[in-house]
Amino acid sequence: MDQEQVVASNYLEEIFASNVFNDATMKARLPKNTYKALKKTIDEGLPLDPLVADVVANTMKDWALEKGATHYTHWFQPMTGITAEKHDSFISPTSDGRIIGEFSGKELIKGEPDASSFPSGGLRATFEARGYTAWDCTSPAFIKDYTLCIPTAFCSYTGEALDQKTPLLRSMEALSKEALRVLRAMGNTTATRVATTVGPEQEYFIIDKKLYDQRKDLILTGRTLFGAKPPKGQELEDHYFGNLKERIASFMREVDTELWKLGVLAKTKHNEVAPAQHELAPIFSTTNVATDHNHLTMETLKKVALRHGLVCLLHEKPFAGVNGSGKHNNWSMSANDGQNLLEPGKTPHENAQFLLFLTSVVRGVDEYADLLRASAANTGNDHRLGANEAPPAIISVFLGEQLADIFHQLENGGAKNSKSGGELRIGVTTLPTLPKDSTDRNRTSPFAFTGNKFEFRMVASSASIAGPNTALNTIVAEILSQVADRLEKSKDVTAEAQAIIKEVVKKNSRVIFNGNNYSDEWVKEAAKRGLPNIKSTVEAIPVWITDKVVKTFEKHAVLSKVELHSRYEIFLENYAKQINIEALTMLLMSKRQILPAVVKYTGDLAASLTAVKSASAKATTSAQEKLLIETSEVLASFSNNVDALEKAVDGIEKIGEDSLKQAQYYRDVVVTTMAKLRADGDKLETLVDEKAWPLPTYADILFNV
Ligand code: ADP
Ligand code: MG
Repeated sequence: MDQEQVVASNYLEEIFASNVFNDATMKARLPKNTYKALKKTIDEGLPLDPLVADVVANTMKDWALEKGATHYTHWFQPMTGITAEKHDSFISPTSDGRIIGEFSGKELIKGEPDASSFPSGGLRATFEARGYTAWDCTSPAFIKDYTLCIPTAFCSYTGEALDQKTPLLRSMEALSKEALRVLRAMGNTTATRVATTVGPEQEYFIIDKKLYDQRKDLILTGRTLFGAKPPKGQELEDHYFGNLKERIASFMREVDTELWKLGVLAKTKHNEVAPAQHELAPIFSTTNVATDHNHLTMETLKKVALRHGLVCLLHEKPFAGVNGSGKHNNWSMSANDGQNLLEPGKTPHENAQFLLFLTSVVRGVDEYADLLRASAANTGNDHRLGANEAPPAIISVFLGEQLADIFHQLENGGAKNSKSGGELRIGVTTLPTLPKDSTDRNRTSPFAFTGNKFEFRMVASSASIAGPNTALNTIVAEILSQVADRLEKSKDVTAEAQAIIKEVVKKNSRVIFNGNNYSDEWVKEAAKRGLPNIKSTVEAIPVWITDKVVKTFEKHAVLSKVELHSRYEIFLENYAKQINIEALTMLLMSKRQILPAVVKYTGDLAASLTAVKSASAKATTSAQEKLLIETSEVLASFSNNVDALEKAVDGIEKIGEDSLKQAQYYRDVVVTTMAKLRADGDKLETLVDEKAWPLPTYADILFNV
């Protein structure tokens, strides 16, 4: 399509959400009463009348058939970290041998997938295979690959959550309830719901498929297990925001188009810091929809890349030595009467409310820092968090100069109004106008206030954002419930609000840090302040089953003790399995690719050495000899480390059934042995003839597209 056509047909408006059964489509196609009833369910969380469901299902089916769809699926998010779907066609036979399209309200609302093969952490033994999926009408249905996809929550027959969406929805509910209590106590009569909103910035790598296909590590584990440092990395800082290469631009254009059709608000795209690294950011939406859309974004990036002979890597650390990928999870709370609760206001009253919500988040982050850290932990993220890379494993909050100053003043008695010099009584005097776009003034902070939202920067690039947001929503709900308890009892709400804000400033200021989070001084300073520094996933996972977390999650009905324990088991098992796959892949590459290649190369060297020696008796330490000695030495060490890794992998047999002990063993023994093997492998890469090396190098892969 050329530019003129694009403008003439208003291409954007035409394709946007063309494959989504969204509000506009429902309004246009559903009978008025049905639409109203469904809207009530969506907006107010009321139960759905089965008769309404029948009408909606039928309308949805007609719409989908018109769009060429042949199947439908309940689309859900099991604990695999990705999405799952099982397609059923709409066909229903008639007596005269034809078919008609059929889709009932029952089929829309509830599915019964055989759930035995999804991770359940012991919640559902295989003999109790039944699980069910339940329609989540707060996220619109859409068509993908000729299939009507219905977003659903996935539970066991006894009602336990088997997925990521269920606790996320429960946490949104909890936060809404507690935030409303605070708003009511502060005199708000208009809001009836508070939603959490999220805009996740997705980082990813794009590489050539031909090179990818030659790397078993990329294929099997998503990251390179070998690879010497290339002569050029990211040190020239020439990739960030650099102009888009044509191949990348055309890939991105197609990604945008596909996402827009699915109603994903794809907004910003650019080159990232590392070579071959890029980012895609959407406009924010409710956390639930943002989570679904982020799944679709990850899927679309992968799918479209293949069409262009490219591969998209979502792993947190595909390449050593250059930046890894994360997801900046921009998060806020907004009431349905139109206010962003983290937006500084214009009136004194609005500002008191703003400070109350802001300090509640700060307090939650301080009191549950370990949980937030755990919510961002996964095997891949261990290479970023706590590994001298952005961001560090220590949770702290960046507030920006002005707010930090207000905090500081509140800490030392009353805050001064910076303009008049008089006492700043919260709720009486206005705050100085805060710059809305304090964009990335501190890029090192794991949890930064950016004007009207918080940016949680630890989140893993390949993981669902449901986990971190469930954690965040729940801890803020808990703090808000404590705030509401006090405000509801108090006679002077303004004074009480002020007291609460001051208390947070006194008690929780230790979590605030506006300096360089990557510095060694901060690590020391944080330890002095008593902030947790959880360096690995294995260390982080047990946080999910601490008494404090169980109590909070049960209080707000987000996850029960049993559900939390099942997740704990899943996370640990997952870690152990992933490291095991990485170790086995390393062994495969070592024994069948690297060893044979180097053996052959040293053989060639030896042969040429003999030839040289016979030609010239004087050449005692020829270049060949030097190279042969060095290569043979590294090769011997490499071979020993192959043996060591084999032994380490086998050693798991002796560890027993305890999943925490198993995960610890993988981290302490297997991962460390892998690092030694890699060091030798990477050294060999720098010694061996380029033509004899069996793997595409970092330089080949990172600078090829
Ligand atoms: P920056 O991070 O550079 O300040 P933006 O302000 O454009 O950039 O926002 C980055 C992301 O934050 C975008 O996805 C944007 O939609 C999202 N965002 C903006 N406002 C909110 C909000 N109130 N709640 C959640 N996300 C938001
Ligand atoms: Mg940002």
